[in-house]
Amino acid sequence: MAFNVAIDGPAGAGKSTVAKAVAAEENFIYVDTGAMYRAMALYFIREKIEPADEASIAAACVNVNITIAYEGGVQQVYLNGENVSGFLRTEEVGNMASATSGYIQVREKLTELQKQLARTADVVMDGRDIGTCVLPEADVKVYLTASSLVRAKRRYKELTEKGVSCVLEEIEKDIVDRDYRDMHREHSPLVRAEDAVFIDSSDLTLKEVVERIEAMIREKRPCR
Ligand code: C5P
Repeated sequence: MAFNVAIDGPAGAGKSTVAKAVAAEENFIYVDTGAMYRAMALYFIREKIEPADEASIAAACVNVNITIAYEGGVQQVYLNGENVSGFLRTEEVGNMASATSGYIQVREKLTELQKQLARTADVVMDGRDIGTCVLPEADVKVYLTASSLVRAKRRYKELTEKGVSCVLEEIEKDIVDRDYRDMHREHSPLVRAEDAVFIDSSDLTLKEVVERIEAMIREKRPCR
């Protein structure tokens, strides 16, 4: 039986950094489900489909094939055969992903792929609905969050380090808007699973968060 760790939480809570570190430590595969929603969003942007145009989004889903592969342990996302991993981390793609991830056609497509991955391998999977919908039977479930200001500051630092000029207040507003959309959508909204352990990382270091999750994993599989 594959061992599954689910990490959910709002944008910028540090899920991917934490999930990658835990996966490396445990020798699990890290599955970034946000990247899959972003790859779908990239397709919609390229096709010039408006996020509010549900009929066109639903029709386009039929033409999209998302697959993932691992190169040197790093997840690569393929959109209809093209490796699009380098195009996914922009604000434009993130906002489109947030605006279109509520559609049932988009969710069904990606959820199935995610379930398949978790059946065949030990995974640390992060997203918004992993503990609630994708892997309700996950062995370890975490809901990772931080205040919107802390999350905005982290994102600001990341962008300015890359040489992208940005305004902290705008980033925080974007984060708050995205949280609202993710938490209030009809299908698979972001909510803490009842059995997920709540971790607020506002005042914790990465190492502290990773150690807490590792302790939870050890408790569930003490023999390894
Ligand atoms: O985590 P990331 O910012 O890459 O996710 C982009 C968007 O994809 C989120 O704002 C959310 O709307 C959507 N998403 C989702 N379910 C997931 C992962 C991401 O709806 N499991």
